[in-house]
Amino acid sequence: GGLSPGTVVGLGPMGRAMAASLLRSGHPVTVWNRTEGRADDLIVRGATLAPTATAAVAASELTILSLTDYQAMYDILDPVAESSRPSAVLAGKVLVNLSSDTPDASRDAAGWAARHGASFVTGGVMVPAPAVGGPGAHVFYSGPRAVFDIHEPTLRLIGEPRYLGEDPGLAQLFYQAHLDVFLTALSSLLHATALVTAAGVPAADFLPGALNTLTDIPTMIGDGWDLARRLEAGEHPGDLSTARMMGATANHIVWTSEKAGIDTQLPKAVKAHYDQAVTAGRGTENWTVLYEMLKGCD
Ligand code: NDP
Repeated sequence: GGLSPGTVVGLGPMGRAMAASLLRSGHPVTVWNRTEGRADDLIVRGATLAPTATAAVAASELTILSLTDYQAMYDILDPVAESSRPSAVLAGKVLVNLSSDTPDASRDAAGWAARHGASFVTGGVMVPAPAVGGPGAHVFYSGPRAVFDIHEPTLRLIGEPRYLGEDPGLAQLFYQAHLDVFLTALSSLLHATALVTAAGVPAADFLPGALNTLTDIPTMIGDGWDLARRLEAGEHPGDLSTARMMGATANHIVWTSEKAGIDTQLPKAVKAHYDQAVTAGRGTENWTVLYEMLKGCD
């Protein structure tokens, strides 16, 4: 019996939330962080602070890494691997890296782990620290399925796991692609708010409706499966929302932004996509024809 022990390395807001979530469920948790003092709250809640990173990794089969980037993992684990040759500390261990980086960095790290006898699972957490372990929290994973399956019950405590496949880069790719949508939407919200406040309209008169525009997008453009089918088929039948019409609107947003004296980079980037479609002679097709431009094929 007993719940499986877990180690958490990296106690930023995310790592602390993960360790707290494991502790809440009764798992024995060992923690380590480069800067001392970040574990204090967790120790009060029952975590064991390892004296060294090597001791932290040695304490559990599963080590969850929550660091700024993948370089931080090497900064911490290279000395761990060096401390025991052949890497006895890492041999047979499972490293689950939930830090942000590029898909290639995740693939390289899987190779690095394999050279030290460890299994490597990549993860991308899709919610901020306060939401970790709560309803709606979900995490993309990729890497060896059998290893993931063994630790799935523990990883589930961080958020609902969404396993994508064996390629260690996949989880990172999905994390980035979702943040591509998220970050662009956030910038557009702030840009649009600047546009209305420049005209003397209070932000509160605008933002609640703007957020509805975001949540109405599925109703306006159709569900993801249908959109995916059309994009993959290269079908962009133009009728109601042509690239030319949408591009004209994009141009109006640039002008209004210029007139208001606010930043024009974002609307100009959007306008450039439509210009490209129109220049390619595809202005009478549906706005989704931008996909062909963005893919770099036209
Ligand atoms: P922080 O930047 O606050 O924490 C980073 C952690 O990495 C700290 O423990 C820090 O140690 C450690 N670290 C950084 N560089 C090194 C290094 N060279 N050597 C040793 N340790 C190092 O990040 P968060 O906790 O906010 O996020 C962690 C990861 O999760 C990031 O990759 C982030 O992109 C991702 N993420 C974050 C979300 C969020 O809302 N915060 C949401 C989803 C994902 P020290 O304390 O010593 O500085």
